[in-house]
Parts: sequence; structure tokens; C-alpha cells
Amino acid sequence: MPKQGCEIGVVGLGTMGRNLALNFADHGFRVAVYNRTAEKTREFMAQEVGPRHIRPGYELQEFIGLLRRPRALLIMVSAGDAVDAVIKEIWPHLAAGDLVIDGGNSHFTDTNRRARALAVNKVMFMGLGVSGGEAGARYGPSLMPGGPQPAYDRVAPVLEAAAAQVEGAPCVALLGRGSAGHYVKMVHNGIEYGLMELIAETYDLLKRGLGMQPEELHKVYTDWNQGELSSFLLEITARIFLKKDEKTGKPLIDLILDRAKQKGTGMWTSWEAMDLQVGTPTIDIAVVMRDLSGYQDERLAAAQVLTSPNHVFGGDRARFLDKLKNGLYAGMIATYAQGLALLKRASATYNYGLDLETVARIWRGGCIIRAALLEDIRAAFRDRPDLNHLFLDPKLGSEFMTRQQDLRDVVGVAAELGVPAPGLMLSLAYFDAYRSARLPANLIQAQRDYFGAHTFERVDAAGAFHAQWDED
Ligand code: NAP
Repeated sequence: MPKQGCEIGVVGLGTMGRNLALNFADHGFRVAVYNRTAEKTREFMAQEVGPRHIRPGYELQEFIGLLRRPRALLIMVSAGDAVDAVIKEIWPHLAAGDLVIDGGNSHFTDTNRRARALAVNKVMFMGLGVSGGEAGARYGPSLMPGGPQPAYDRVAPVLEAAAAQVEGAPCVALLGRGSAGHYVKMVHNGIEYGLMELIAETYDLLKRGLGMQPEELHKVYTDWNQGELSSFLLEITARIFLKKDEKTGKPLIDLILDRAKQKGTGMWTSWEAMDLQVGTPTIDIAVVMRDLSGYQDERLAAAQVLTSPNHVFGGDRARFLDKLKNGLYAGMIATYAQGLALLKRASATYNYGLDLETVARIWRGGCIIRAALLEDIRAAFRDRPDLNHLFLDPKLGSEFMTRQQDLRDVVGVAAELGVPAPGLMLSLAYFDAYRSARLPANLIQAQRDYFGAHTFERVDAAGAFHAQWDED
């Protein structure tokens, strides 16, 4: 292919691939596209491409031939087997020096495996986390690449132009070695689960507890989104309450089934946190609550027989709203803290070389968890790159502490009303556990030694000890 070949090829013209291809072309790059089902490529070319420099390959060979050498291709297909199927198909057409990028939500262990396999033929592989959904892909996502520096350098102009921009800087940077990009994206999604659960709990308290209707809820979340809580998720939450159902004219939110699905990235984060022994309770409970939401038939049956004291909120509504707002902010700090603590441990375990300031920086724009709070998080890691935990940052630690009484009050009200708020509760318990100089794990050690002779450690001497517990 002559030098004017396409700078980047996109395999997969689903929601994300289509929009990324348009985004790349809008920034002046020559793009080649290919989709397993050629009809989708035809539709895309006919309906969306217009005068942009996007060239279709209806056959794989034709597509490969459109690319400038050494080639750079972005695979944007469903995560899992589909990525392996595409790699298998393109493998015979690739040459040493080519670069394959997987932009889907792949599990990081798959990314490591694929990188090793392609390295045999000296083909570079990069795992790229992409966040921002359809609109992000089209107009500026947050991009989380991981892999070798030469791979990043090859496509940096394309990625940096296409990414969201915050204060003139693109929300993309090479995050680290190997599968670092997909790992960071996984944790991003885990944090997303946690934040969504916290917001859903505040909604439940306002709706079930205070009896608020969608229009009122719209005002509350719009107000909350103005200041320190300002974030993409609160912004869309406020908008959701305004939407009317076209058929009935009723608020759409009230017609949506209370059963949340998941694609697995939140669960992966929790598994990983357990594996690396880093506590992420707010994220874990967010996964659990989606699971519980799925047991709708059982919940409906249980609701007939299992009752709570049926307390009605009788306090000061305006004061409670303030407390809830502060409690949510504290919960958000705890959720980011858990995700970043996991990233810190993962970076050491997998030798990723992550810089957490950079991670916080590229999450400030384009992605689902973008929030004003990320400015403070970024500053925390900029001032102390070796910071062990966000609670130990003077600013964020004191922000949590000044809101802790409100969070305690909110959790108390939720328990009193019988409205489940486990994300808020666990965010508080996580804080209390983290700040406890002494936890009751001494008793757990004693129990383990009692029934299993697992030994215990002492406060006054090093080594492993065992007691004959039944002697006295
Ligand atoms: P999508 O709209 O469902 O499109 C799926 C694409 O994968 C289609 O082009 C499909 O081709 C292709 N495909 C499926 N199985 C294949 C196979 N065995 N061989 C070849 N191609 C195959 O998916 P999407 O939403 O764009 O998501 C793509 C990736 O981005 C996923 O990993 C997803 O998790 C991730 N992601 C999605 C979002 C989002 O908001 N949607 C956000 C961030 C990341 P056909 O047309 O031939 O079926």
C-alpha cells in the first residue's frame, strides 16, 4: 500500500467502533473500517460517513490492504471470544511491526495472553480502555491505553486528538506496561458501579423515605450537581427525572423495572480486590445490589410477609437533604479511595508502573466517572505520589471527616426507615475500619487458633504462638 494508506483501521462497527471511526476522521485521520457483517459497513458508509476520509473494506483482505504500513488496527468488538475470533482472522495478514489495539472491555488476563501470542510474530498489542459510551466515542472519550511505549507513540496523535480535552490536555496517556490500560478501565467501571449504587440509594431515601416525586428529585439532583458533587452521573440523574414516557405521559423513571443488569466489569473489580486482598466494600455491595435486584419475584413474595417497623420520616426535611448531600460526597470519596487503593496494589503486583495522578487526570473528562472531585484526587497524588490512601490526603481526609457526622445520621435514618442503603453504610464502615488503631481481629485470630491450631501473633512478642485453649 502506498504511504497515503489509512493511518488507522477500525474492526467492528457497533456503537463504539462506528463512533470512534467518525471521531478519528473528524480529526483529519484517514480511517479504514471493517465489520464482520458487511451489510453494517454498507449502511455506515451510506448513512453516516459523508465526505470524511473513511474507506470501507467489505472483505478482510481488502480492509488490510487499505492500511498504511506498519499497520495500526483498533478492534472494537464485543469482549471475550469475539476478540480472539478477530485476532485469529487477521493474524495471517499481519507483519512484524504492526500494531493491534483492543479497545473493548477485555479482562486484563486475556490482554496479557493476546499480547504474548502476537509477540511471537513481533506484532505489538495494546489494551485500550475506552469510557464515555456512545457520545464519548463520538466526541471525546477518556482513553486508557496500556502496553509498550513504541506502540503508544505510533498511535498517540490519533488517540490524543480523539480524546476528551480538559484544560487543553487530552484525557489519554500511556498508563503503564502490559495490561495496565484494561486493568485501569476495569477499576474505572468498578468505581462507576459504586457511585451509581450510592446515587441510587439517595434516590431511594428521597422517594421512599421523603415521598419525593420526579420533578422534585430533578431539582434536588440539579442543585447537588452545581457544587462539589458536580459529576456526569449526577448530571444525567437529574435529567432522567424530567423524562416523560411517550406512551403514557408519566415520568419514565416510574415505569422502568427495578432490575439492573451488568456485563461483569464491576464483578471483575471485586474479584480482583479479593484476590489482591484490598478491601473495596462499596464496589462489592454495588455488585451484590444489582444481583439482588434481579430476584424480583422473590422480593415481591417476601414483601408480602417480611415487614419492617414502618417508620415514617418525621425530621427536618431541609436538614436531611443537606446531610444526604454531604453523606453522598463522603461516600464518593470512599469509593474513589477504594478503587485507587486497588490500582496502587495492582501496580506493585503486576509491575504496571501506574502513576495515579495521571489516572485521575485522564478520568476528569470524557468518562462516566468524571467528577469535580477528581481535581482534588489528582492534586493529592501530585503532591504525594507515594500516597497510600486518599483518606490520608490532608484535604480529602478532612473533607470526609467534616461530613462523617452527616453520613452517620443518614445511615441511621436509612436503618430506621428500613430503606436499604448498604453503599452508604459500608462507605462509613470502611472509613471507621481504616481509621481504627485496633480492630477485633485479635478475637478472630484466637478463634482460628482455638479450632484449627492456626497460631496467632502477639502484641508483645514476634513470632507465631499457639495456646491450649481448653486447659482451664
Ligand atoms: P456492539 O454495538 O454490540 O457491537 C458489537 C460489534 O462486535 C459488532 O460490530 C459485531 O459485528 C462485532 N462482533 C461480535 N462478535 C463478533 C465476532 N465473533 N467476530 C467479529 N465481530 C464480532 O458493541 P459496542 O457497544 O460497540 O462495544 C464494543 C466493545 O466496547 C465491548 O467490549 C464493550 O464492552 C466496549 N465498550 C462499550 C461501551 C458502550 O457504551 N457501548 C463503552 C465502553 C466500552 P456484527 O455486526 O457482525 O455482529
